[in-house]
Amino acid sequence: MMTQDTLTPLPERFPYACQWEVTCRCNLRCVMCYTDCFNRPVAIRQELSTAEILRIMDELAEAGTLELCLTGGEPLSRPDFFNLYEHAISCGFLVTVFSNGTLITEAHADRFAALLPHRIEISLHAVTRETFEDITLGQGSYDRCLQAIRFLLDRQIPLVLKSTAMTLNHSEILAVKRYVESLGTVKFKLGEELRPELDGGTGPYQYALSEQDLVELNQQDADLQRDACRRDSVEPPPCRSGMHRFHIDAYGQLQLCSGNRRQSYDLRTGSFHTGFFEALPTFACDWKAPEEPALIRLATHHA
Ligand code: SF4
Ligand code: SF4
Repeated sequence: MMTQDTLTPLPERFPYACQWEVTCRCNLRCVMCYTDCFNRPVAIRQELSTAEILRIMDELAEAGTLELCLTGGEPLSRPDFFNLYEHAISCGFLVTVFSNGTLITEAHADRFAALLPHRIEISLHAVTRETFEDITLGQGSYDRCLQAIRFLLDRQIPLVLKSTAMTLNHSEILAVKRYVESLGTVKFKLGEELRPELDGGTGPYQYALSEQDLVELNQQDADLQRDACRRDSVEPPPCRSGMHRFHIDAYGQLQLCSGNRRQSYDLRTGSFHTGFFEALPTFACDWKAPEEPALIRLATHHA
C-alpha cells in the first residue's frame, strides 16, 4: 500500500529557534554597540560557564529546538567557543554564528569546514580601512575581517556579510554591497536598526541616519528599494517570539527576544521546559500587535 508523507504544522507553541548571546565580551569597541557596556571583567565573570551552556543546550535539543544562533558580544572571544560550537552541531542544531570576523584564524576556518555551520554572518561596516576602524575602534580590525572572509570563502562556508547603515558609513554602503556581490555566493544584508545599550544608554542613536537619508540610500539600489517597499507595503507577520522563538542572554536568562528583556526566567536554576512552556507565556510585550478580532465569531454556547 502506498503511503503519503505529509508535513505536520508546528504546534502553536514550540521552541523552534533560539538566539543565544553567549557572551558580552568582545575584542572590539564599536561605537554603536549595545552589549559593550557589559564587556567588563565584573560582568564577564558572571556569564554562563561552559558546563552550564552545554547542559542548557542539551535541554534545548531534548525540547526539539532546530535553529540555534550563537551571538555576542563576539562569540569567538570565549576561549571555549569551539567546545560550544561543536557540541551544538553534535546536538543536531542548524547553527548560525554572528561574528565580527576579526578573531577567525585559518585553523578556526578549518574547524568550521569540518563541521559546517548553517551560515556565518560577519559585520562588514565599510570598504575603507579608515571608516571601518572609525566604527570598530580596533586598529588592524579591517585587515583581519577581510582575511577571515577569505579563509571562509576558500572553504566554501556559507557566509552572509552585513552592514548597519549609520552616519559613519552611509556613503560606503553601496560599495560594500557591490563588493559582496563580487564574491559570488555571499549574501548581503542591510540593517537599519540601532538599539539602546543593554544598560539603557542611548549612545548608539547618535549614529542613526535620518528617515530621509535611509529613503535616499534605498532609492539608489534596486534590491534595497525592493526590500524597503516590501517592508513598507506588507503587513508584518505576527511576532512569534515566545511562541516559536526565544532568546537566552549571557547569564542564562530566558527572554522573549533580544529586544525585550524586561522579564526573564533563570535557566541556571530552572529547567528550559518550565521556562519556555510556563514562564514565557506570561511575559508581556507592548510592541506585539494585538491579535486581529475575528470578523465572525463561532458561538460557543446557545442561550
Ligand atoms: S563587534 Fe559586535 S559585539 Fe563587538 S563591539 Fe562591535 S558591535 Fe559590539
Ligand atoms: S514584538 Fe516584542 S517580543 Fe516580538 S520581536 Fe518585537 S520586541 Fe520582541
